Amino acid sequence: MNMVKRIVLLLIMALVSFTIINDHSEDSVNELGQNLRANMLKLIISDTQRTASYTGITELRADILAAMYNTPRHEFVPKQLQQYAYDNRPLPIAHNQTISQPFIVALMTQLINPQASHIVLEIGTGSGYQAAVLSSLVAKVFSIEIIPELAQHAEKKLKALNYSNITIRTGDGYQGWPEQAPFDGIIVTAGGEIPTKLIAQLKPGGIMIIPVNDQYSNQQLTLLEKDSQGVLKQSKVLPVRFVPLVKSDN
Ligand code: SAH
Repeated sequence: MNMVKRIVLLLIMALVSFTIINDHSEDSVNELGQNLRANMLKLIISDTQRTASYTGITELRADILAAMYNTPRHEFVPKQLQQYAYDNRPLPIAHNQTISQPFIVALMTQLINPQASHIVLEIGTGSGYQAAVLSSLVAKVFSIEIIPELAQHAEKKLKALNYSNITIRTGDGYQGWPEQAPFDGIIVTAGGEIPTKLIAQLKPGGIMIIPVNDQYSNQQLTLLEKDSQGVLKQSKVLPVRFVPLVKSDN
């Protein structure tokens, strides 16, 4: 009986604290959010250090960490997964796609060396999160998504959150976006072959980062740097797992 009373008491306490949590003033909600985001940055920094021998990156830029902190990832994941939004892991989004792991988003962002004047192309809009992270770091982001519903959803979301320098279109990323080319940076967030048209749409001095399938059906995050003469240098960064870069039929 004593035990039952204790359980009932615990349940009441849990209910009361739940009510208090739900009654949170905006400030304390923000505080909760701040803690989650700060913790996510810690995990990103620790992954950066752990992988430094592969990636050559020992430290992430302060402005990139700030972009990671400030981008509301919970807005880009399905409602029922919002509580995990600041975990350092990929999460499912609609149409069997995924929003990338925050560490990988930060790493890919740093690898294209974004500058305030840059025009960047993203292939694989998905939720719109990577585009949102890039938004404050560059002049313009163009993003292509092959699934029309995802493109529309991301576009609506980014507009509602007042991101004004991102343009999204439905299409096949293998074709790139010739009307807006050439690009200072290209981020491909699905894995496959390296689309030759994307290489052509990279500026001299431009950088592309893309998960490339290897012969063991793994993926290697691969960096392609085009020098001022247009000569391409290719290097492997890290083994990764992304959803496939789909080839359209036409
Ligand atoms: N960058 C996204 C995550 C992308 S998941 C984010 O931040 O949420 C990869 C996305 O690439 C999926 O939405 C998938 O539909 C899209 N995709 C796959 N093949 C594509 C192609 N050929 N062209 C454009 N998008 C493609």
